Amino acid sequence: MNRDENEFDVIVVGGGPAGLIAAIALAKRGLRTMLLAPSPQHEDRRTTALLGSSADILSAIGIWQAIVDKAAPLRRLRLADGTRRLVRTPEVLFDSRELGLNAFGHNIANEDLLAILRETSARQTNLEIVAQPASAVTLHDDSASVVLPDGRSLSAKLIVAADGRHSICRTAANIKMAKRSLPQFAVALNFSHTRPHHDVSTEFHTESGPFTLVPMPGSRSSLVWVCTAKEAERIRAASDEDLSEEIARKSHYIVGTVHIDGPRGVFPLGVEVADRFGVSRIALVGEAGHVIPPIGAQGLNLGVRDADAIARLAGDAIMDGRDPGAPDVLSAYDAERRADVRSRAVAVEMLGRSLLSGFLPVHIARGIGLEIAARVPFLRRNLMRSGLGRDSGKPSPTESV
Ligand SMILES: Cc1cc2nc3c(=O)[nH]c(=O)nc-3n(C[C@H](O)[C@H](O)[C@H](O)COP(=O)(O)OP(=O)(O)OC[C@H]3O[C@@H](n4cnc5c(N)ncnc54)[C@H](O)[C@@H]3O)c2cc1C
Repeated sequence: MNRDENEFDVIVVGGGPAGLIAAIALAKRGLRTMLLAPSPQHEDRRTTALLGSSADILSAIGIWQAIVDKAAPLRRLRLADGTRRLVRTPEVLFDSRELGLNAFGHNIANEDLLAILRETSARQTNLEIVAQPASAVTLHDDSASVVLPDGRSLSAKLIVAADGRHSICRTAANIKMAKRSLPQFAVALNFSHTRPHHDVSTEFHTESGPFTLVPMPGSRSSLVWVCTAKEAERIRAASDEDLSEEIARKSHYIVGTVHIDGPRGVFPLGVEVADRFGVSRIALVGEAGHVIPPIGAQGLNLGVRDADAIARLAGDAIMDGRDPGAPDVLSAYDAERRADVRSRAVAVEMLGRSLLSGFLPVHIARGIGLEIAARVPFLRRNLMRSGLGRDSGKPSPTESV
């Protein structure tokens, strides 16, 4: 094999959703791209709500329609107080039509999302895919190199680290993560139900965290249930019948009776944010750069925006005949992603902790915030736009009515 075959503009390490989206976007921008995507070790039965700006980005790379065809639209979002506290907050209903949108986003099974991304990536002309992990990553001033388990050595101007929360690329660049663990777990499962969900996602705020029903196609929904460690253990051990009845009761039978199917995933919650997002020929994308609790569906939506940003900046560099992994490109990436990721991490963490707090003023503040959101259309619209990750709030071509 000659030297050129092992040289790329960019190597994307990791074939999870963030890595696949980054690889497709980079290849479409004209970068000669290598994707290292070892086969996943576990089946992923979660679903992902792709919101607002993700639709625009995934449309631009030609995959949004395929996602919509397999997903359920999220047209309305209801926040309800499921606590038994002294200060209870009003129910708030956010409707995508208030923003001139047809839906806030779409909820898709991760397996379907990954299948679409793998099929699309296999069709890209500038993209080579190898089903092996990176064993070692070495960074130099003018390039980076990656060694594979079979001994092959690859080099590139830029490494896009999409190798998840235990990223070896991040370690190679000596990037540190600020970590704060939350005393909560998320249980994720899917179920069928007897009444239609009417494309409404309902988030009950409970004493231990949100209990969120998210529509899936047909009479099915996914549930993300944030709870204490003890509760997570009890939920994991409960029979399907008992758990189905408990979920129906806890959700006030809004989707009728419930029948859970498939396994229950249990995830410890915490917030992890990188101190740099781009340096030394490495750009962090997805959970390699930020791990956000599944409250408000922000995690992969941030990862989609990471992928878009690095593809745009590296693509512009290649177009101008510049180095796509040069310090100025990575500084621009760092600056662009820092504000977005940090503001979302803080907001999600505050919401998670405010629900746990036993401190009455915290409940009053949360109640006032939601009361204002319920009554003041201007503030409510701003809150909705912010949750979608859209600055302008202008209807996008993909989502407008
Ligand atoms: C219960 C739950 C519900 C969620 N719901 C939502 C939601 O509704 N909306 C949303 O936006 N987000 C949601 N998230 C967050 C979302 O799931 C994550 O942000 C997303 O899965 C992260 O994708 P990733 O590609 O960055 O990481 P991963 O999916 O972890 O992928 C990393 C990949 O890197 C590979 N890898 C690791 N090491 C190497 C190596 N050395 N070489 C090569 N490859 C390597 C792994 O095999 C893996 O395939 C949720 C999270 C949870 C826990």
